Amino acid sequence: MCLIRNFFKRKCISCEKEKEKKYGFCDDCFSKIIFINETYKDRIHIGRYEGPLKEAIIKYKYKRRKSYAKYFTLMIEERIIKENIDFDIIIPVPLHWKKEFIRGFNQSALLGNYIAKKMGKIMYQNILLKSKNTISQTELSGKDREENVKGSFKLKNSELLSNKVVLLIDDVYTTGATTQECKKLLLKSGSKKVIIITLAKS
Ligand SMILES: [Zn+2]
Repeated sequence: MCLIRNFFKRKCISCEKEKEKKYGFCDDCFSKIIFINETYKDRIHIGRYEGPLKEAIIKYKYKRRKSYAKYFTLMIEERIIKENIDFDIIIPVPLHWKKEFIRGFNQSALLGNYIAKKMGKIMYQNILLKSKNTISQTELSGKDREENVKGSFKLKNSELLSNKVVLLIDDVYTTGATTQECKKLLLKSGSKKVIIITLAKS
């Protein structure tokens, strides 16, 4: 029985050589993930954006390995439970529609969707929208990132945010320019609290 189960096991989502053991990773890759256990003020990250976790995220986003989302959300969900985080709704950091069309999906919304389903919450994908197709943040640093995203988001149906604790989800947190801009807008529009959660932090 054990042999059969092993035979059908999938390959590691990072190295793609060894068999998957923990959260989609093989033992070796999993042991190289640097987990971030501290919680900043209303901000949580699962691990550092490097090594096997970074490899897996890149494959997820740019090679459209949508199936990886279920492994990532296992880690996120466990953390939410461990930290005892209470929230009402989930909002993913949006992509501009052109970017989402090219990529084929919004990587943060897919994570949010899984979490919403597993934890019995609602995810709203039509409240926070990216209205300006800004240039990629990866080409910019620090202050320029803030300038780049300033005013690039807008809200629709913001009455749904009234008095709600929002779990704002994104895949990677770099300088925080994008997520903080989203958080500001959500708070300004009636949310009670915004908790940021990302899979990785660089
Ligand atoms: Zn591996």
